[in-house]
Amino acid sequence: MKTLKIAIQKSGRLNEKSVELLKNCGLSFENYKSSLISTVSNFPLEILFLRDDDIPEYVQDGIADLGIVGENVISETEVDVSYLQKLGFGKCTLKLAVQNNSDIQNINDLNGKAIATSYPVILKKFLDKNNIQADIRTISGSVEISPGLGLSDAIFDIVSTGGTLKSNGLKPFADVLSSEAVLIGRKGEESNPLIIELIQRIQSVLRAKETKYVVLNAESKNLDKIVKLLPGVKSPTVVPLAEEGWVAVHTVIPERDFWEKISLLKSAGAQGIVVMPIEKIIL
Ligand code: ATP
Ligand code: MG
Repeated sequence: MKTLKIAIQKSGRLNEKSVELLKNCGLSFENYKSSLISTVSNFPLEILFLRDDDIPEYVQDGIADLGIVGENVISETEVDVSYLQKLGFGKCTLKLAVQNNSDIQNINDLNGKAIATSYPVILKKFLDKNNIQADIRTISGSVEISPGLGLSDAIFDIVSTGGTLKSNGLKPFADVLSSEAVLIGRKGEESNPLIIELIQRIQSVLRAKETKYVVLNAESKNLDKIVKLLPGVKSPTVVPLAEEGWVAVHTVIPERDFWEKISLLKSAGAQGIVVMPIEKIIL
């Protein structure tokens, strides 16, 4: 079968997490900082390390079969690729922001104003949709300093924590697009068995990340109450302890209701609660 190629970011915010995800999928490869291509030894896959801006087009044009890239970059490059899987990292939002003392209060106040951005395509679409006529000034980096230099009245840029905006005296006033890293594929290749296999591996890693393996001890008389609190993958495993009248309960619970569940379990009589990370969940 033809070897697949996946394009990931060479260096930058998505590189480490992309490499980690592929490694967690059981793929073995060398990750030299200097190499542009790496061959996976235990799966027919080659990894191309690229600038993130180039990834959507490489996938669209079939130079790579798959890619990992931010949704923001896909929208900006306007390529025709298929979205295969959201990956849960690289989360950020494209926002409009102005200086703290600006009289621009809402998006309509942007009429006739200059907006600096590295995302002119996404911004233009947003302004057109809202019937706003503004002057888009495309710059490739350090967008946040442009209002202070008098180059623009507002900026349109990526925000994750908001720290960069704050330290430049800016405040966000409208969210335009939220983004995270996604796995993209070339249109029409979705039924390739190797791609399906890889997506399944990725999904099992993502599922595992969202859940924890929990083991707890309880008196048998409290078991019913405790089991009701535990929505496991199927149902919890209950094992007798050496001490008469006691059991150990093993289960898997979603990380998001973890703390709430732990305190409810404790008040239902659970003791010695051990929480462990899970590597993979294969359904
Ligand atoms: P490259 O050299 O590959 O072109 P880059 O400088 O364009 O890299 P990075 O800054 O490494 O890009 O960001 C890569 C992606 O990470 C962004 O396109 C976006 O999807 C995501 N991201 C998450 N948080 C942030 C943030 N605070 N600032 C910028 N990008 C972020
Ligand atoms: Mg880039």
